[in-house]
Amino acid sequence: MKTKNNIVKISFRDKTYGWNHYHIKIEYIDGTIDRIPSNKNIFMKVFLKDLVLRPSCYHCKAKGVNNQSDITLGDFWGIQKVLSQFSDDTGVSLVILNNQKGKAFFDSLLSHFSFVQSKYSDAVKFNPALEKSAVCHIDRSQVFEKLNDETLHYIEKQYANQKLSKIKTSFVYRVVRKGYRIFTRCFTHIFTTSPSQKIDSFKESNTFAVKNLDTQEIAKSSSGGVFSVLARSILQQHGVVFGVQLSSELYVEHICIQDEQDLEKLRGSKYVQSDMHSCYAKAKEFLQDNRKVLFSGTACQILGLKKFLGKDYPHLFTVDVVCHGVPSPKVFKKYIEEKSAHLY
Ligand SMILES: Cc1cc2nc3c(=O)[nH]c(=O)nc-3n(C[C@H](O)[C@H](O)[C@H](O)COP(=O)(O)OP(=O)(O)OC[C@H]3O[C@@H](n4cnc5c(N)ncnc54)[C@H](O)[C@@H]3O)c2cc1C
Ligand code: SF4
Repeated sequence: MKTKNNIVKISFRDKTYGWNHYHIKIEYIDGTIDRIPSNKNIFMKVFLKDLVLRPSCYHCKAKGVNNQSDITLGDFWGIQKVLSQFSDDTGVSLVILNNQKGKAFFDSLLSHFSFVQSKYSDAVKFNPALEKSAVCHIDRSQVFEKLNDETLHYIEKQYANQKLSKIKTSFVYRVVRKGYRIFTRCFTHIFTTSPSQKIDSFKESNTFAVKNLDTQEIAKSSSGGVFSVLARSILQQHGVVFGVQLSSELYVEHICIQDEQDLEKLRGSKYVQSDMHSCYAKAKEFLQDNRKVLFSGTACQILGLKKFLGKDYPHLFTVDVVCHGVPSPKVFKKYIEEKSAHLY
């Protein structure tokens, strides 16, 4: 499709109508704005139905006990049930301190937060992505074949919609599908998740519901705006921060910032696999120069960084986001092209 891209900005987690009803916000070159609830947006639907994740997300090797980052950040889903007095529709972060280094870093910034202690075992009940991989959709390979010829609208209607086509409501299809789901769940459980008895006591007693005290910053962040506080603290110590931006070309990529003014580029979740470029090598150079480095990303990206570095640096701080999985950049590109052409 050769349509001029007329979209200038996309926010995946616009909270104008509240954290619990987040929208995808699309800004066009002519100044018009589209806000679509995430459960109605075609891109978010194919993402959340696990149709277009990268293959490794279906058997993630970086979750649970394999997580190697110092701090894990997520949305505190289920806060109404676990800590109702702290529930807030502007957004509440789930903060898990995975080790002493993460704890010391978080403790040094407590004056910037309001927070309540929780338990890891409570948080995981409402956020299974902490421990469990997404289950691969039975039609995933078909979807990727169809992507070359069909629109995302067609894919969504055909594969992500509850209203299945006639064949899909047939008895045989349902039996095969159910069997496949049971098999993949068992496989995932045995090989890629960490059973609850493996939850370490450190995490259990170092899990918090947290809100940034700066409400404007919460509004611009996906959940409770904790990342901004961690990042600013490192920048103010002449450190550097690595994280993910959506470029002006609408490309999702890892970048490095050294200035507080650039922090807004990293704020907010971008639900696409990021291009790491040469960020691992750059981080190593800064560490060798004795600069403080905060590296943020998904748990597998933190695992990759640690492997690349090959040794521990006391002035390296790592933060991962709880990760449902990342959609393929190819699908996001297709979405932008089709949305620009006003196909839906
Ligand atoms: C692909 C993806 C899936 C997620 N799935 C879940 C989930 O299932 N459950 C849950 O509780 N939370 C999930 N999150 C995390 C959640 O959306 C927030 O990012 C997190 O709570 C931090 O919010 P914040 O308000 O502290 O900061 P924010 O400012 O909103 O977060 C910014 C941080 O997210 C990082 N980031 C943004 N996009 C990406 C990306 N594509 N890849 C790697 N890092 C990225 C930035 O580098 C920065 O560290 C997911 C995030 C992403 C990116
Ligand atoms: S992107 Fe997320 S789910 Fe996929 S492999 Fe990495 S950490 Fe696991």
